[in-house]
Amino acid sequence: MLRRSFLLLAPALLFAQPVLADTPVVGAPGRIARLRLGKSEQPPKAQIDGRRLLVRKERGEWVALAGIPLSAKAASRLFVDVDHPDGTRERRRITVVDRKYSIQYLTVAPDQADLPADQVAQYDQEREHLLKVLRTFSEAGPASLALRQPVEGRRSSSFGSRRVINGMPRSPHGGLDIAAVEGTPVAAASAGRVIDAAEYVFLGRTVVLDHGQGLLTLYSHLSEIAAKPGDAVAAGATIGKVGATGRATGPHLHFSVYLNAAAVDPALFLPALPP
Ligand code: ZN
Repeated sequence: MLRRSFLLLAPALLFAQPVLADTPVVGAPGRIARLRLGKSEQPPKAQIDGRRLLVRKERGEWVALAGIPLSAKAASRLFVDVDHPDGTRERRRITVVDRKYSIQYLTVAPDQADLPADQVAQYDQEREHLLKVLRTFSEAGPASLALRQPVEGRRSSSFGSRRVINGMPRSPHGGLDIAAVEGTPVAAASAGRVIDAAEYVFLGRTVVLDHGQGLLTLYSHLSEIAAKPGDAVAAGATIGKVGATGRATGPHLHFSVYLNAAAVDPALFLPALPP
């Protein structure tokens, strides 16, 4: 019940909540911190560790939206460097606050826990390639932050959940899974440009879209890809079909949203679930 009511509140928090400029900014892993950057004519630039943040004008004021990585530790600080158009630079802080995500402990046969030796090098290469893709930043911003759900179907609430397999913690689940029948067309969640379309060991056939200012969406386990890098796609355009490629227990869409290369909860951008 609690989780459901939070999802209903989330879009209102993202799009409407004002934050005072000099109040401390906090952000939880997998969520979005907002920093007010003033009313200059030209937009300021903001970055965390060299990764540019999405900056947009809201009610006459520039606001940076910082994705907080799921790996960020509670009580740690993230530093945001802001370059104002008048040449001044300032450093802001975001204090990371705790957020509980579920943890699942599993014991499986050792040969199921790890990749076969011949796939390890491939996986490492893929990981590096994907990290580069996820750091894509283009200046033109998205027309809207609202996204459409790429396929109809029940959404899992597993964003951020962690698995500990044979005592080894795995990376947290950076997306939400939507149950759908194999072959169901997958729609672009918003207008954008295809920046990656490839097959990966874990993610299977995958498409990544750039919506501007570091807002990216990723679609995985596709049975078919219907887009190629460089393509411009309209919101709702078919970019592939639901499948179970890669490491998937059955057909579903794994859907991720990134801001400044950090996976953030897609539910923040999607229409609220019916009560
Ligand atoms: Zn998933």
